[in-house]
Amino acid sequence: MKNRKIRIFLSPSRQKYNLGIRGSGYTNEMQEMNKLCDEIENILKKYDVILYRNSYETFIEDWSKINHEECIDLHLAIHSNGSYGNWKKGVENWIHDSYSNTYSLAKKIYDEVYSIYPANNNPITNRGIKYANGFLAETNPAYFSFGMNLEVAYHDNLEDAKWIVSNRKDIAKAICKALIDYYQLEKIK
Ligand SMILES: [Zn+2]
Repeated sequence: MKNRKIRIFLSPSRQKYNLGIRGSGYTNEMQEMNKLCDEIENILKKYDVILYRNSYETFIEDWSKINHEECIDLHLAIHSNGSYGNWKKGVENWIHDSYSNTYSLAKKIYDEVYSIYPANNNPITNRGIKYANGFLAETNPAYFSFGMNLEVAYHDNLEDAKWIVSNRKDIAKAICKALIDYYQLEKIK
């Protein structure tokens, strides 16, 4: 028997100036990642878990405060990616460093999302787990006890951006599958 409910803080990107590539239907990173988080919430609200979420009016210091006050089990930043020259594509999940206790969940989420990624037979898309070593605040243990930053795919790559737009539900399902399994979340009866 679990004596305490798992607490997950969803932190969709606030980068509204990161625009999707023309012709993809991807508006901007903030809007698209919020739509993805809506789908994640739709799934997780059927489970015995306490959900939190950022807002445009709040900042990293606020989320970090909640993290410590509420003893958040997982701080999950959800972003789309961009690259100079728009040539990169694929999935990444960022954690603090290679010794982080976040590795196994990060890998699980990565594997689930990558398994439904269409070009997953192309090694350049298999970007894997990345280590921020303090460079990303949302993976940094100084701010968040258990944080990671998923980069779903590239908003400046046409195939990637189109994939996110048209597979939001499935991407949410893949992320939730990893969370439900890792935390052994039970359905609310
Ligand atoms: Zn981003």
